[in-house]
This record gives sequence, structure tokens and C-alpha cells, in this order.
Amino acid sequence: MKNKLLMTPGPTYVSEEVRMAMSKPITNPDFDIDFYDYYRETCNKIKKMLHTENDVLILAGEGILGLEAACASLIEQDDKVLCIDNGIFGKGFGDFAKLYGGDVTFFSSDYTREIDVEKLESFLQENHDYKVATLVHCETPSGITNPIDKICPILDKYGIISIVDAVSSMGGEPLEVDKWKIDIVLGGSQKCISAPPGLTLLGISDRAWNKIMNRNKPVPSFYCNLSLWKNWYEDKWFPYTQSISDIYGLNEAVDRMLRDDSIVDRHRRLARGVRTALLEAGLELYPDSGFSNTVTTIMVPSSVDCKTILDDMANDYNIIISGAFDYLKDKVIRIGHMGENCYEEKLYITLKAIDSVLRKRNVTLKCKLHNKFVEVV
Ligand SMILES: *Cc1c(COP(=O)(O)O)cnc(C)c1O
Repeated sequence: MKNKLLMTPGPTYVSEEVRMAMSKPITNPDFDIDFYDYYRETCNKIKKMLHTENDVLILAGEGILGLEAACASLIEQDDKVLCIDNGIFGKGFGDFAKLYGGDVTFFSSDYTREIDVEKLESFLQENHDYKVATLVHCETPSGITNPIDKICPILDKYGIISIVDAVSSMGGEPLEVDKWKIDIVLGGSQKCISAPPGLTLLGISDRAWNKIMNRNKPVPSFYCNLSLWKNWYEDKWFPYTQSISDIYGLNEAVDRMLRDDSIVDRHRRLARGVRTALLEAGLELYPDSGFSNTVTTIMVPSSVDCKTILDDMANDYNIIISGAFDYLKDKVIRIGHMGENCYEEKLYITLKAIDSVLRKRNVTLKCKLHNKFVEVV
């Protein structure tokens, strides 16, 4: 495979330091007692990144494992679950909740903007008899970030346990787990964290532990059963052998993030620059509001098709950007400016290539994307 500039909303570019860390010698993670401390040290770094005192776990599976494990472990047969939905991942959460017996109500809203906190609040005033609520911080396909800083404290007020999919925001957007009262927060190694795909990061509150450890019936799963993790450190026991090389990489990736205290500002500034350049050129973004700082979703101009843009980007410029799936398939292209992708030089090169591809395909642009971008960032 050729080396390409990877500008997708995950997996993102993985630094050489992280790749080198992954090549460290392997020990036996079950029988080398030092590995338990190494795993715990990695969790402690993640806690710092998430601003939480809650337990953190690293699960050996890509982000989806975290979503399913949270639903499997927290939800019991006929538990009332509120699924807060304004996009593909938000809606999909409802399916996981149903799979594990949840009695799911959807609070569905406009897919082109962030969740309306006031509407949700008035809905909850009338209906708050839920045990669990699921929600998504950044809807990666549509490029929308939801105000979980306002939503989670409201859920908390009603005693509803929140499960937040922060897979594509964690590390790129502000995320204050304790201050915002998030019970379960979920991240993935391959998005802003910029480690290879393969790990879930999961923060879990005492209230969530309490529900998990006091179920009427056991969790109907092994791999997704969080209760098995309750005393992993004291017992020096993992439910299954840990992906040690991936954890070496993750530890290094989180270190890099903790060293960089301008990371959230950089995401905000460069994301705004990308949006301004695209809009001033006359292109249309998918969201009407609630723009994500980690991914930008652009409507495919009517004179060209999605596949042509992606193919030209890859073949002529060696740059991989994304399309999307589900109802957005063939309608949008996406630039992932998250984690290690989120540098001015990389976005300049990417926008310059998009500019050339669109002009070659007879799309009229009112300015040069890359020039406008450097002008405004
Ligand atoms: C990437 C991502 C996940 C993990 O899903 P995959 O499609 O398997 O990568 C979950 N939630 C969100 C919001 C994501 O962006």
C-alpha cells in the first residue's frame, strides 16, 4: 500500500512516536505483575485528559465495543431508556439499547443542527421516568457537536444515568466528565487520540457501577460485561488478555496530548478556518449549526459526484478524505481535522487539493480554498 496523507475523521494519522512505542517488547499481561501498574498508569493519564476522578477502563475492541458494553451492562429487561437522537450514531444507540431489553423512547430532532437543550428540558419536565439516556457528543457523519455540557447536568438532575458516545470528540473538543456529570463516557483510540484502531476508552461513574453491580439478572454477555472489571487491579485479573502493543501506543498518544495544552484551541481555530474557507468559496456545509471542531461535512456540489472527488483526491494528490454512509451516502464529503490531522500544513495541502479537484470538475469557487484558509487562521 502506498503512503497517503490520511485526512479522514478516524482512523487518523499515527505519529512515529506512537508507532515506535507499539514496537516495545511484549510481556505476558496476565502474569507480569508490572503490567497491571502500567495499565493503571495509562488509565490515570486518560482520567487527566477527561477531567475525571471516575474509574477509567481500556477495552480491547474498537469504539463500538464501548457502546455495546455500556448498553449490555447497564440496561436490564424493560428498563426505560431515552435515546437522544440527531444523527446516525444517536439513532443507532437505540438499537443497542433494544438488543439488551431496553424499553426505548427516542427524543429525535433535526439532523442538521445540535440538540435543542430547551426542547429537551421541557420534554424531560413531563417525562423523566428513565433509568438511562444515550447521547452522542460529536455526530461524526454529519459533523455536528451536541451541547453535552448542558444536557448531562439536566439528566443528572433527574437521576438518569448518561451514556455519552464521545468517540470522535474526545481530545479535540472540551470534555469535562465530572463537571458535566457524565456517567459513562466512551472514546476510541483511532479518532482525536491518534493511535491505531482497536481500543475503547471508557469512564464510569459510581452511580453507573452501582446499577451494574446490583442488577436483578446477570449481564447477558461476557465480552461486554463491565461488572467483570470491577476489581481488576485489586484482584490482578483481566477478563481476557489485554492488547498490550495497542496499550503501549495509546499510552504514548495520550502523553502527547497531555503535553500539548493548546490542543483544544487548535481544533477550534483550524476548524473555523476550514469552514470559513469553504463557505467563502461558495460551498455548502451539511450542518446549519452546531459545527464540529473535529470533522467538517461538506455537501457534494451538484455538478460532480462524491466518488469522483474522493478518487481524484486519492489518485491525483494521494490524500484520503471521506464520504459518509446511511442517509448521507454519496451526498457529502468529510475532512477529519482531528488529533494528528489537525495541523495547519496538513489542512492547507488538503484544501489546495480539494480546490484543484473541484475546479477540474467544473465547480465554480469564489476564492482559493487554501489561500482563504491561511488568511483566516
Ligand atoms: C468512529 C465512531 C464510532 C466507532 O465506530 P466505527 O464506525 O466502527 O469507527 C462510534 N461513534 C462515533 C460517534 C464515531 O465517530
